[in-house]
Amino acid sequence: MRRQWLSRIAVPACMTVLFCSCTGGPSGDLHKETRFLMGTFVEVTVKGPAQEAKRAVGAVFDEMKRVEELTSFHTSSGLTQVNASAGQGSVQADPELATLVGESLSFARETDGAFDPTLGPLAKLWNFSAGEPRLPEDSEIKAALDKRGWQHVTVDASSGTITLPREQMSLDLGGIAKGYSLDRARLVLVKLGVQSALINAGGDILAVGEKSPGHPWRIGVQDPRNPNGLVAVATLRDRVIVTSGDYERFFVHEGKRYHHILNPETGYPAGGLRSVTIIAADGVRADAMATAVFGLGAKRGLEYVEKTPDVEGFLIDANGEMFFTSGAADLIQTTDGQPPKPNRVNTSSRSGQPFPFAGTELIDHLLVAIPCLNQRKQSG
Ligand code: ADP
Ligand code: MG
Repeated sequence: MRRQWLSRIAVPACMTVLFCSCTGGPSGDLHKETRFLMGTFVEVTVKGPAQEAKRAVGAVFDEMKRVEELTSFHTSSGLTQVNASAGQGSVQADPELATLVGESLSFARETDGAFDPTLGPLAKLWNFSAGEPRLPEDSEIKAALDKRGWQHVTVDASSGTITLPREQMSLDLGGIAKGYSLDRARLVLVKLGVQSALINAGGDILAVGEKSPGHPWRIGVQDPRNPNGLVAVATLRDRVIVTSGDYERFFVHEGKRYHHILNPETGYPAGGLRSVTIIAADGVRADAMATAVFGLGAKRGLEYVEKTPDVEGFLIDANGEMFFTSGAADLIQTTDGQPPKPNRVNTSSRSGQPFPFAGTELIDHLLVAIPCLNQRKQSG
């Protein structure tokens, strides 16, 4: 099991940024740096004069590091301190962390618990985040499920207090934290006057402005069953695009795939879908919804995205069938030029336009692929 896992984490990523000479201008004024943060490689690209762009890249990493220290499982993180106080009444946390926990609870309400930020004990059992997953016993899963309960968590964002009423409860913000870090990064970039930038946090991508005037950023969506293949390309400006997939962190045991997005009802990995791509105006929503829709499955997931204003989705189910929400065809095109299967919610808007580059040309223009490594540190 371990060996399969290790070989898996070396493959390239959930989403890929395409720098096509035909769609971008000269890229000499793009300043780019990669660092390991929040359990993944984060690549920050800023367009502008060298000095200013370099400064902006540094400021973005500083901010994302700060978010990591608030939300990760590091012993010293704000979140770890809150988790350590479970069952001991209300605890004073950083108001920023309390606000994010409050938002994660809103997504739990909005999705009827498909997004559940109280899966800490269960996630720790499966141990995907630490990079050494294992198949737990049914009894262990049952015990971990007894410790969840987003309905019982209370938050006062203004004072920054959080209450985890039961002992051994623990919050896991892994389904939302990267999206939040992108929102914070965007604020930094706006403050510095950056008009064109792209941040890829292991497949959660923020596109600021356009790559060059009139040429939006182009993001390739990975084929869930072929690490070297793309199934679609999104064309974006000022949007966040996030993919949650069963191919990012997984192992295979006796022919069955086990991955890191968990069904809070059963305690086992959510079935039915291979990948969910969400495009939204902000990172928190895109990240939380991608995780939630994965858990909800194709039908309920598409309904949920359809009814959420200004959000679009692109889903691939367990048979490889693709589903778009009604506005997604304007933003994403499949690479084979075939219109995706009619979505069960709305069949009206399929562009069916062929993707303008054939497969090999697409790969020839591939400049960057960010691996999704999974070495989020976990406290004891
Ligand atoms: P990634 O962080 O790999 O891009 P996701 O955003 O989908 O993927 O988040 C998956 C992470 O969220 C898991 O590693 C775990 O920490 C947490 N998680 C797993 N299942 C759920 C769930 N049903 N609701 C909320 N968070 C979850
Ligand atoms: Mg997510």
